[in-house]
Amino acid sequence: MLEIKHTLCPFCSVGCGLNVVINDGEIVGTFPYKRHPVNAGKNCLNGRKSIDCYQNRFQKASISKTEVDIEKAIIDASKELDSADASDVTVICSGNNTMEEIEAIKNFAESKNYNIAFYADNLKDFSDVASYDDVAGASKVFVIGDLLYENPLIGRRIVHAKQNNAKIYALSKNENALTFNIADETFTSSLQEFLDKLGGEIDDSSVIVFNYVDCREDLDKLESVNCKLLPVFSKSNTKGAFNITDSKSEEEMIDLLDNTKVLLVFNDDIVDEFDYDFTKISKIITLAACQNNTTEISDIVIPIKTWLEQDGSFVNAMGETQNFTQVIESDNLSEIEIIEKLN
Ligand code: SF4
Repeated sequence: MLEIKHTLCPFCSVGCGLNVVINDGEIVGTFPYKRHPVNAGKNCLNGRKSIDCYQNRFQKASISKTEVDIEKAIIDASKELDSADASDVTVICSGNNTMEEIEAIKNFAESKNYNIAFYADNLKDFSDVASYDDVAGASKVFVIGDLLYENPLIGRRIVHAKQNNAKIYALSKNENALTFNIADETFTSSLQEFLDKLGGEIDDSSVIVFNYVDCREDLDKLESVNCKLLPVFSKSNTKGAFNITDSKSEEEMIDLLDNTKVLLVFNDDIVDEFDYDFTKISKIITLAACQNNTTEISDIVIPIKTWLEQDGSFVNAMGETQNFTQVIESDNLSEIEIIEKLN
């Protein structure tokens, strides 16, 4: 029997709707969610491929790369955590986790006096952000990062602004950035130089959309500019995570890793994000749905449900809470169920 179920794309903070195609109880494909207000029938390739993790999901836990039962991996993880000094344990949570999971991770870390680390692309939260409609309706859009390539359903709003005769100013480190193709002026300079050069052009009908900064000081400079801002994050629920726990800068993350002996990673590929020698950490325990660079170097890997196998909520880049429901049954445990066993 063929079924179509609605969910959200878990790939970036734009929050696009996604339809999942299920045939005889197996997920076989995706197609865009036509009536979804964020993406109105369009998904980028990352969104279309988001089911890959489900299709390649871990069925077994592993200890030192040897497959074991999940219960055995949880017991060993518990022993490692209990035998460490709490101040040497760091718990990683991220925008890959749902609101409900981040609450549970935070409560768990605090009850055990572990360090908690949440990294948000070196960005921070802004309380009042532009909506996607604000981007499409702006008279000038300042684009920092290759949004057309990296976050295409925001990129679509930038194209709409251009069609409405907005001027587009684009900054990217990549001189072949896709966004440059629709920009009136392009820059490959630092963000500081970009703002120095264009500051006089920015007014209250402008929007600055950005997915990176060169340094944390750039965030204060952006905040002091007289127009709406829209930070776009690489993970689906980074904006929501800010409501639950404080984010750390890149330097603070490295400092914390330098003082960590046991690292407990909740559904994050921290090894991919940081240029850091993770062999300095004695034990890495990772809860993950599928393989990534962090699971590859972890001592213990515990499989978790993918977002397709559970209910939850994400907060998208413009601050809207979006709920999603389970689209397929699963034998794996959720992060919250594993936390209860680790407690
Ligand atoms: S823009 Fe982001 S949320 Fe939308 S389909 Fe692409 S990866 Fe998914």
